[in-house]
Amino acid sequence: MPESTFDVIVVGAGPGGYVCAFRAAQLGLRVALVDKRATLGGTCLNVGCIPSKALLHSSEQFAFAKGHAAAHGIALGSVGLDLATFLKRKDEVVAKNVGGLALLAKARKITVLTGTATFTAARTLEISPVGSELARAPKQQLTAPNIVIATGSAPVELPFMKFDGATVVSSDHAIAFSAVPKKLVVVGGGAIGLELGSVWSRLGSEVTVIEFLPKIVANYDDDIVRHFTRLLTKQGLKIETGAKVTGFAAGVLTAERDGKKLEFPADKVLVAVGRRPYTDGLGLEKAGVQLDDKRRVKVDAQLRTTAPGVWAIGDVVAGPMLAHKAEEDGAAVAEWIAGKAGHINWDLVPAIVYTEPEVAGVGLGEDAAKAANRAVNVGKFNFAANGRAIAADATDGFVKIIADAKTDRILGAQILGHGASELISEIVTHMEYGGSAEDLGRTIHAHPTMSEALKEAGLAVSKSAIHSL
Ligand code: FAD
Repeated sequence: MPESTFDVIVVGAGPGGYVCAFRAAQLGLRVALVDKRATLGGTCLNVGCIPSKALLHSSEQFAFAKGHAAAHGIALGSVGLDLATFLKRKDEVVAKNVGGLALLAKARKITVLTGTATFTAARTLEISPVGSELARAPKQQLTAPNIVIATGSAPVELPFMKFDGATVVSSDHAIAFSAVPKKLVVVGGGAIGLELGSVWSRLGSEVTVIEFLPKIVANYDDDIVRHFTRLLTKQGLKIETGAKVTGFAAGVLTAERDGKKLEFPADKVLVAVGRRPYTDGLGLEKAGVQLDDKRRVKVDAQLRTTAPGVWAIGDVVAGPMLAHKAEEDGAAVAEWIAGKAGHINWDLVPAIVYTEPEVAGVGLGEDAAKAANRAVNVGKFNFAANGRAIAADATDGFVKIIADAKTDRILGAQILGHGASELISEIVTHMEYGGSAEDLGRTIHAHPTMSEALKEAGLAVSKSAIHSL
């Protein structure tokens, strides 16, 4: 048995793992953080949240310059795309983010190890060097009283249409196409598919999104999705719902709807049908760590696995596969390990689609409330009646506040609109403190701001919005 020089070993340096390691180090624990990637940050910073947002931002600037600048009296002449620089900026954004984490890890005296971790016994890991290090470096054995599994997730592959990295690709490749595809078919109308579909559509691709369910972003209310679908269609995305993809051959993707065969020519197919918990090669059986029926690491309410001293967090356990959820898991586990009172409110994990406009939601939606026969009052406010939105050319969309009919407590909110990703945090805070729609309506909001639409939607719950009837 190797000597234990650490209090905690965290496997996986994504938002779950690095936050766990940083918080544990803050609390005075001796921490090792292992990842098989050469940089910290996991999926999110390297190939997920951050590069996709960099691409979304740049492509929004491009779309503005091409389609809207003239209406603001800005004469740009001809607008062209330099894709190499466009992608280089994205890479620089990633490098800044992951570099920042490396500095923080060093300052916190965390031992960062690059290698693949595999359990050889309960609470013992073997770290195998990766890549070019493989031949030279020896394997290391590490043990600690606490091991945190934060190995994240991987894109789901369709068995009849395997990723080939060239034509049928996952988001890992779709953040780095070296040329703008002429025809891009996106399989899956969730956040990742719509965000990357929007990026390439803005750059000139003909993008078709194929969704198996009757609507895209199925976890949002019907009225939000109907409006959102209309806006995306106006931007040039073709949205095909209720269609089941059946295969891809000779540059044509085939699908079926109501027994009818559909064909979509494509030079690239982005499969974005979800992500699966990633535990490949971890040797969980050696540690006595069990999986649940969906092959996620089984955990209790304090994120303890079935093996004593082994914890699991983030995408690899049940719950929304989102970076901020992984981060909260990570911080709480570090606190529990240090004997402190960790806290996570899994009912209040906001979800966002970072298109333009954005879609954001938290808590209970109106449709879900109705399906559960829950008595609610709903307040709605359109950005078209918000002064700042009019000034900023951002009048598309609306805010919905869902409040308990008896107590007026806010149960959820959905926002379709510019900057919805920022606006939703206010609702999360109100909900965290048990706020009512009246509280929201009586809270002063600076004028003119998009956030006034939240106040107005809060007032609209009791039919007392000021700027709408
Ligand atoms: P990960 O970030 O997946 O990190 C796991 C790490 O573990 C990886 O670095 C991996 O190399 C390492 N690892 C795995 N096995 C081993 C092993 N045996 N040994 C050593 N290391 C190992 N979420 C949001 O909240 N907002 C967004 O805007 C958003 N956008 C996204 C866009 C895209 C294109 C994608 C793909 C995802 C996006 N996500 C977003 C989801 C987000 O990236 C994940 O929810 C988040 O990264 C999960 O964090 P994690 O720490 O659980 O795992």
